[in-house]
Amino acid sequence: MSNIKIHDKEFVKTISHDEIVAEVKRVAANINRDYAGKRPLLLGVLNGSFMFAAELMRNLEIECEISFVKLSSYQGTNSTGVIKEVLGLSESITGRDVIVVEDIVDTGLTMQNMLETLGTREPASIEIASLFVKPARLQVPVNVKYSVFTIPDRFIVGYGLDYDGLGRNLPDIYDVVE
Ligand code: 5GP
Repeated sequence: MSNIKIHDKEFVKTISHDEIVAEVKRVAANINRDYAGKRPLLLGVLNGSFMFAAELMRNLEIECEISFVKLSSYQGTNSTGVIKEVLGLSESITGRDVIVVEDIVDTGLTMQNMLETLGTREPASIEIASLFVKPARLQVPVNVKYSVFTIPDRFIVGYGLDYDGLGRNLPDIYDVVE
């Protein structure tokens, strides 16, 4: 299999588009079951989650809605360092069943922060659906109820995830070659 180059780094294909689609279907089936009779609001975190969010929603058979937010990072004064502010959430999530749709949970700090922020708006429930989780990197306990792939501590690109702006359009997942 031929490797690809993005900016200065080489990447090797590790997960095919077909595998991603099959595994997203599996997770969507769990959501269909768990949210039967409800109308969850999927909250996609831009930019990385857009392909996953589309594939996940395409496989949901229950009534559901979607909205997207962006996170702005800035250095905070608390111990965790970087604080991320949730931007673009215009609708009310009070009383809603929210499913945050994320591309990858790495240290878990982003999701911890996001759950705290959204929690103050009194949703009925919040769960996380993440395409990837790197358990070896987690610094805080984050419960990712709908995790599609568990991966080792390696930098990946493709299927919405970028390396310095590029690679989001790749249909498959690639690992960096060190
Ligand atoms: P956390 O706060 O969990 O450490 O950060 C999660 C964010 O870091 C993800 O939403 C993503 O933007 C970025 N990230 C973490 N690991 C990777 C990776 O392997 N590849 C890419 N492209 N982004 C990553």
